[in-house]
Amino acid sequence: MESHSCEKTPGGGVPSPSQQCSHVDAKGAQCRMLTTRPDAELCPHHLRKLRSQRLSAGRRLLRGVGDFEVPEDVNIFLGSLLEQMALNKIDRRDAIAMAYVSQLILNSQVALERQRENEKDARFAAVFARAQAAARAQLQQSAEPKNN
Ligand SMILES: [Zn+2]
Repeated sequence: MESHSCEKTPGGGVPSPSQQCSHVDAKGAQCRMLTTRPDAELCPHHLRKLRSQRLSAGRRLLRGVGDFEVPEDVNIFLGSLLEQMALNKIDRRDAIAMAYVSQLILNSQVALERQRENEKDARFAAVFARAQAAARAQLQQSAEPKNN
């Protein structure tokens, strides 16, 4: 029997499973709405809902946190992050990424503090060296015999 080479073409009228919203509700039912783009996983309704939830989670995470200039800000943020994770209000991968960035911020704060200390030490050493030079010059001047 001879085989025919027929190319399959995607159907136009029936949505493919990838175009159906991937949201599954608490009862395990999948949303029947369609996505607006082929690469999107959610329908516009669930996409808006997800964005709103993420915005709220972001606001809760940043509540009481300053501008991350001091370790205390990072500590407050990490406490909020842990709380949101424990309440299952934040995606685990997002939480891991945020915890990692928090660690980087802490490391850079330590490096900045060390740099500030080094600069302070250098300024002190410069002032001390100038004072020493002035004292030596004064001593030398007073030790020289006076010509009048
Ligand atoms: Zn949906």
